[in-house]
Amino acid sequence: MLTYQTYIDGKWVDAASGKTFQTFDPYTGEPWASIPECDKVDVDRAVEAASRAFEAGPWPKMTPTARGRIMRRIAQLIEKHAEHLGQIEVRDNGKLISEMAAQTKYMPEWFYYYGGLADKIQGAVVPVDRPEHFTYILREPVGVCAFITPWNSPLMLATWKMAPALAAGCTVVIKPSEFTSASLLEFMKLVIEESGLPPGVVNVVTGYGAVTGEPLVTHPKVAKVAFTGGSVTGARVNELAAKTFKKVSLELGGKSPNIVFDDCILDDAVSGAVSGIFAATGQTCIAGSRLLLQESIHDKFVEKLVAMAKTARLGNPALAETQVGPVTTPPQYQKILSYIDIAKGEGAKCVLGGGPATKEEGGGKYFVKPTIFTGVNNKMRIAQEEVFGPVLSIIKFKDEEEAVQIANDIAYGLGAGVWTQSVKRAHAMAARIKAGTVWVNTYRAVSFLMPFGGYKASGLGRENGAEAIEGYLQSKSVWINNGPGGGNPFVMKTAG
Ligand code: NDP
Repeated sequence: MLTYQTYIDGKWVDAASGKTFQTFDPYTGEPWASIPECDKVDVDRAVEAASRAFEAGPWPKMTPTARGRIMRRIAQLIEKHAEHLGQIEVRDNGKLISEMAAQTKYMPEWFYYYGGLADKIQGAVVPVDRPEHFTYILREPVGVCAFITPWNSPLMLATWKMAPALAAGCTVVIKPSEFTSASLLEFMKLVIEESGLPPGVVNVVTGYGAVTGEPLVTHPKVAKVAFTGGSVTGARVNELAAKTFKKVSLELGGKSPNIVFDDCILDDAVSGAVSGIFAATGQTCIAGSRLLLQESIHDKFVEKLVAMAKTARLGNPALAETQVGPVTTPPQYQKILSYIDIAKGEGAKCVLGGGPATKEEGGGKYFVKPTIFTGVNNKMRIAQEEVFGPVLSIIKFKDEEEAVQIANDIAYGLGAGVWTQSVKRAHAMAARIKAGTVWVNTYRAVSFLMPFGGYKASGLGRENGAEAIEGYLQSKSVWINNGPGGGNPFVMKTAG
């Protein structure tokens, strides 16, 4: 068993209470490390450190070019330790080593990109209608930011928040999911500690949602909360943060439609449907969990899809050939199985999988077989609620009009896929679907350059892309009067 400490104010510390909890390998079910169980006392310590680093430390005052230089160093350290960081995530989360190799290889780009943006944050001189005034806008960092992240892509999702926040000059306290804290702690040791970031700029509090997360979200010195997780928790976090008027961004759940028209390239679309729901064992917010199939190709498509999904190799996520790994947490495992029962109870027809995978089928401790339901209608719970596992609901549609209606008839709006060879239809669908991302003839593509986030119950604000940095900045309007004073003190000095 490894013993981790947490990282506060540039030091490695235990929880003040001395309490710890165990983290386990979801492939074997065996515990492999102990993690500090932080509570309000540790959260106070971390936020005070971040607040000191913001108010009195060198980070926000440093020239943006110098900040960018440190961020490039962070990127280089990720490159150096990519393999190790990926292996830790595989062990703690059950993510496939092939997926982690791709994620950790790409992660440095966030720090290169936002590090490059640090010295391109510009204010403006504004020509108001009072020529005696010199008026300009400053762009300032918001202050201490609290990040709350889920268990499904712990390092990548922390990176999406950390990079723009640091570029803006903010300081940070991160609470990872209690199920997957290890990779972030390794990141602190191998990357942040070595990068030259001043103490207190990035801090971590490990622990449980209610005990660690809530004191962080409600702390009066936290200016901004950036949360990724489920919509129910997101609503609670939003409510808590509102009491002290914090800025909030939320990246929440989804039930994304993956829409296949009869003019698609069939084999590409079949592969896209598999990628949409079985990649990452379906534990992804952008899972294409509602497959909308045009009636005319339904039967042929289902046949090909089932044939391809059947070949998915379940097994040890640490092996390069594995394609479907374990479910990360025991509650999630139970939740997926219960949704399979719900779907069966609602009258959906299970044409593949439909339960736990045995050892002979490649399964380990928490494995669910890739599962496909046909005969789903969009009113069923299996069509409306996020399962967050390898369970696909197939819904038929007649024409474009009906596809749009079904796609949008849902509380969520995170992603959508469209498979068609018609350019006209591709643009029309992209315009009409209410989702933060629409992929056409591809699925699950992400980039640091493209904004990511949700419509409706899938979230507030955007991560990635140039606009993400805006979430960590605020404007200050400065009016300098170069003319005479005086005038009527009881009348507002309007411009013009
Ligand atoms: P949860 O909402 O359960 O938890 C997310 C984080 O919030 C965890 O760190 C959790 O801690 C913490 N938390 C729980 N309760 C509170 C609270 N009252 N106050 C503050 N923090 C709290 O989500 P999961 O971890 O189960 O992740 C899966 C969800 O995340 C799915 O719905 C998925 O769609 C969504 N997601 C969204 C993404 C997006 O970008 N839109 C990307 C990835 C996932 P603890 O683990 O200790 O409970």
